[in-house]
This record gives sequence, structure tokens and C-alpha cells, in this order.
Amino acid sequence: MNWNERIHAECYRPNADLRNFEQISFNFGPTLISWMQAHDPETHRKIVEQDQVNMRLHGVGNAMAQAYNHTILPLASDRDKETQVAWGIADFEYRFGRRPQGMWLPEAAVDLQTLDVLARYGIEFTILAPWSARSESLDPSEPYRVLLPGRRSMVVFFYQRELSARISFDPGATINADQFAQYNLLSGFRKDKARRGEAQLVLIASDGELYGHHQYMRDRFLARLVDGAGHQAGLTLTYPALWLKEHPVQQMVEIREPTSWSCHHGVRRWTGDCACTPNDGAWKAHLRHAFERLSQEIDRLYADVAQRLVDDPWELNRRYIHVILQKCSAESLIGEMAGHALTSDQIHRLHLMLEAQRERQRMFTSCGFYFEDFDRIEPKNCVAYAAQAVRLVHLATGVDLGAEVSADLQHVVSQYTHLHADRVFQRHLRRAEGVSSVRVGYAD
Ligand SMILES: [Zn+2]
Repeated sequence: MNWNERIHAECYRPNADLRNFEQISFNFGPTLISWMQAHDPETHRKIVEQDQVNMRLHGVGNAMAQAYNHTILPLASDRDKETQVAWGIADFEYRFGRRPQGMWLPEAAVDLQTLDVLARYGIEFTILAPWSARSESLDPSEPYRVLLPGRRSMVVFFYQRELSARISFDPGATINADQFAQYNLLSGFRKDKARRGEAQLVLIASDGELYGHHQYMRDRFLARLVDGAGHQAGLTLTYPALWLKEHPVQQMVEIREPTSWSCHHGVRRWTGDCACTPNDGAWKAHLRHAFERLSQEIDRLYADVAQRLVDDPWELNRRYIHVILQKCSAESLIGEMAGHALTSDQIHRLHLMLEAQRERQRMFTSCGFYFEDFDRIEPKNCVAYAAQAVRLVHLATGVDLGAEVSADLQHVVSQYTHLHADRVFQRHLRRAEGVSSVRVGYAD
């Protein structure tokens, strides 16, 4: 049984069977949910259907979109932010059959530029950690509006810190949902607002895999909490889009940037050394530096190939998500964007460069930078994506970026096993070169 299958069997399938996705606000990483669609289409269908029940009942759904590759967006360029958000929206529309109103930011990592990209792409709200607010007296029982350039704005819900920590890290508190509702949940509400009869909400944010995978039986705890225990404690269920439909946003807030929910040092956990992980995190800085330099080279070569063939290379790259989702072929997308006839060789080269762009986005998946050491599957996977990108660029343009990347990756070394990232890269590059014809358009 592989890891995805195990988490699926312990968490996603039982939670879908219990109809928990009808009762909570949720989002899925596109890579995970596309795996689910292929391996258990019935559960995928149930999850989509549980959002649609709310659409029919309330006119707004409870599913949220997510930035596509789980990239830490404050660390990404403005153009990469746009790609991640555009791809996340397209994936959501493809599955849920509607525009997303809300988007979850990977690791709740935020800066103003990220919120502005969300606003420009029509997203209305997101959820952040309470310490992302620049406010001494934050009241998380209602959402706030963050003002952005150009008269744009973004609504932000802040999760309740103590209850989110309790549900995530204190299994003793979540054995009995009725007791949790009585002794914990009610304490999250403000007594002064309750006395005045003012509406207020408590938002608890947690990793979805907690419910049945990280913590045994908590899928059933959640089912009881949202279907009985909360009601008996006098509470009514809501979710961000429904709350916004019924309550105007009255308060403004500024955000502290960059901030995130699983690092208390901004976003340093994914870019170097901080106290969140023991030992020296310098390898992360070297890995990110290597990937950023490679990205610049790939972008330069991509633009070089693409701008001779299409008017807007980056719009083509953003629309390439429709090829990834198999809604159209690369040939038809490129043909449509070119507006004039191209040779099959031109189309093939551009297609290879679009696949290189796709691999390049995958290099920045946050889990590659999250843990304390380099010698783990997650960072090594990111290096494998880099090797694949280098191979695709070589095939498309004849330019070999391998030596440069290797030189940069020499500085990335495991503290425990002394594994060098350049050796991992070379191994994957040789493997990629061993494939006589590169498959393009394969699934994750
Ligand atoms: Zn940290």
C-alpha cells in the first residue's frame, strides 16, 4: 500500500462517507485530488457532491481552491504567484464546476503581493493565522478587510488560535465531541458579543489529514461535532462564503508580512535557518538559490522559444493548466494562442518547454523545504523535478543547463548522511536521459 492509499483509506474516504465535507470548509491540493480522481473516483464524486449540496441550499459552496503546487507564495515571483493562483482556480473549476470564492494559501503564508494576486484573479477571501494581523486587539470572531493597491481588497478570516491548537495537538481533548463542544468550543466565543446578541463565528483551522490519519477515529469525532454536538451546545454551522453572504465585513486590518501558520519566523522555515527545525537550515537557502537560478534560465529560454510563436508566452503558460487537466491538447492550445500556422517541430519544441515550466513549478513545492534535513524523499523529489526540467529544456533548445545546476547543488548536503544534492541531480538526469523519447503530458 503506498502512502497516498493509506492516507486515503484512513482519512479522505471515511470523511467523505460520513459526509463531513458537507459540513466543513475544505480545500484539496490539486496533485492529491487528481490522484484521488484516478484511484477512487467514487470518493472524488462524493466530495464534489457535498459542496454542491451547499450550493443548492445556500447559493454559495463550502469548498475552497488552493494555489496549485503548494508553493510558499511570498517566496515566489509575482509571475509565479499568478501561475499558481491561475492553475489553482482552473483546477477547482474543473472539479467543482463553479468559480471559487475562497482560496487557501499553502501554509497560510501571506504577503500583500499574494493577496493582491488573489484579488486580481477574482478571489474574495482567504484564511490566515491570527498573528498575520498587524493588530494588538484582533477579534477573530468576524472577518476583516485588507486594503490593496488599485482600490482592490481581500477579506481575511483569522482562525481561533487556542482551539485550532487544541484540536490539532491535544488528542486527549478530542476523544468525545460532545464534551469538546461543551468545554472547549463554547469558550472560543466572546461573552460580550453574545450578551449583545451580535453574530460571531469561531473558525478552527487544521490539517485535514488529522481526522483519521494523524489521529485515530477523529473522522468520527468530526462527524459528531458538526452533526449533533455543536447543535446541542446551541451553535449553528457556517462556513466563510455563507458567513459573508449574511454578514457585511465591517472592520479593516493590515497584515504583517511575510507570515505563515507553521513558522513563527515569517517564512524562514522554507528558505533557511530558524528555530522551527533543529540543526542548520543553510541547505535550504542553497537549494532555493539553485532552483531560483535554474528558473531564471528556464524562463529566459522559454520566452525565447515562445515569443516567436505566440503573442503572450506567459498567458500560454497560465492556460497550459487546461492541457494538464486534459481538457484540450497542447497542439490545439498552442494553435489557438498562435493565431497562425506553426510547423509540427515548432509545436513540439514549445510543448517541451511548457512541460519544463510545469516541472519548474513543482520544484518549489513547500514540503521540499519544510523538514530539517536534505536526505528525505520530499527535497529529493524536488531535485528530480529540476533534472526533468533540465532534460526537457535540452531536448527543446539544445541548451544543457546541467553543469550549472550541479555546481549550485554541490552546496546542498545532508547533515546526517552527507548525501550531496548534485549527486541526486546527476542520477535523475541520467535516468531522464535514458528515456529515449520523453513523454509529455503525463499525470503527476
Ligand atoms: Zn520558523
